[in-house]
Parts: sequence; C-alpha cells; structure tokens
Amino acid sequence: MKRTPLIAGNWKMYKTGTEAVETATTLARLCSDIKDTEVMIAPTFLSLPLVAASLEDTNIKIGAQNLYFEKQGAFTGEVSADMIKAAGAQYVIIGHSERRLYFRETDTSVCRKIKAAVEVGLKPILCIGESETQRNEEKTFSVLDKQVSDGLKGFGLDDLAHLVLAYEPVWAIGTGKTAGVDQVMQVHQHLRSLLEKLFSKDFSDQTRILYGGSVNPENAKNLMDIEDVDGALVGGASLDADKFINIIKYNK
Ligand code: PEP
Repeated sequence: MKRTPLIAGNWKMYKTGTEAVETATTLARLCSDIKDTEVMIAPTFLSLPLVAASLEDTNIKIGAQNLYFEKQGAFTGEVSADMIKAAGAQYVIIGHSERRLYFRETDTSVCRKIKAAVEVGLKPILCIGESETQRNEEKTFSVLDKQVSDGLKGFGLDDLAHLVLAYEPVWAIGTGKTAGVDQVMQVHQHLRSLLEKLFSKDFSDQTRILYGGSVNPENAKNLMDIEDVDGALVGGASLDADKFINIIKYNK
C-alpha cells in the first residue's frame, strides 16, 4: 500500500510571529515543486494564524503542537480544538514526550485530546516513545503498546481515518542521538502489527508511522528508506528552512 510521506516540523517554543512567517515564507518558496510528499509545520499558538495566512495557496500544511480537550470554558491558558481549526490548522501533535514529561500528560489525557481533535476534523499526530531507561530494561515494546492502546482506547475505525503515529524515542529527541536503522525498523514493524491487532489490516496498511528524534539532512535518507517509515517529525532541524528542505527532499 502506497502511503504519502509526511515530513512535519515541530517548532516548539521558538520564533516570534514575524520570525515564524519569515521562515514559513522561505520554506514555501523552497517547497513549491514538492508533489509526492506532504509537508507540515507546527508553530506556536501565537504564530499559527499568522503562518496560516502567509501559507495560503501553498502546499504546506499547518499543525498545532497541543490542544486542550474541553470545548470552551474557564480553563486559563488553554486552547481548544475548534480554535485551532478556525486558526487554519489541519493537524495537531498530541502526546509529545516533552508534554508528557514537563506537563504531566498521561495516556488518558492524550486519549481525550485525540477525541477532541477528531471531533472537529483535525488530524491527530500521536507521539509515542520509550525513555533510555525503558529501552535498557527491554521495556520498549510494552511501553509503546500501552501508549498506543490506551491513547486510542474507545475509538472506531472511522474516527481514526486520519491518524498519524509518530515513534519518537525520548532519548533521541534533541540529543543528536538517532536510533539505528535496525532499531527503527523493528519498532515500526511492531507498531504496524499492533495497529492490525487493535484495529484491522487495512487500517494498519493505510496509517502513516513517522520517525522522530534528531532527524537531519545527513541521516534523513537512511531513516526514510526504511520500509515502514512514512516520514519524519522533525524538531531542531525544521527551524531552518534551508536545512528542513534538505530533509523534505531526502530522495532527490
Ligand atoms: C521533536 O521535537 O519531535 C523532535 C524529534 O525533535 P528533534 O528533531 O530536535 O530531535
């Protein structure tokens, strides 16, 4: 089954609105001939509507880095799925390891967030990954199984038609350490089978599974050429349009 690769940039808490628009505009120019790969960037909430406006009529999609699962109300500092959609996003990153670590997100809150995203038609990118200790203790598969099955608990196939899974080993995020080709291959194969076991073969075949963790222009091709890898979630290297384009064009 042919899955269109997705190269997604997570801009984390970087760039003012002006800086974000500047990088997005440069990236759009560099991406104008990209047809066979979907490109997405996730700026901060503040920059999102500005970047969305600057990318109208381009082939770059917008994502948010998080959402809150309630529709509206007295939740100071939070942003709802509806608001994100109205600001111009199509995707939302959910359960990033930094949110799990620093903001105590759990599989239960992740599941509620995916539900909120799906309800308004935002495409969720569910991030999962093991810590270094969990890998050393050979718990990688059990950790990932729990994150996927609890994060996707209670959903039917229709709800998850646009789900994207992102495997991001925590020890590889922002560290310059990349998982080896064999490690990534093993995990992605495992996740593909897990989706089949939890849902169906068709669902597993159609769902994109991204790799994330210190992807850069030098290692992108090796990682993206792995059979069950359908793109990348990129942090640091997505902040610079000239670097990011060389990941997007890993095949060229
Ligand atoms: C990320 O934040 O999802 C990520 C993979 O970061 P980096 O590429 O910087 O490791």
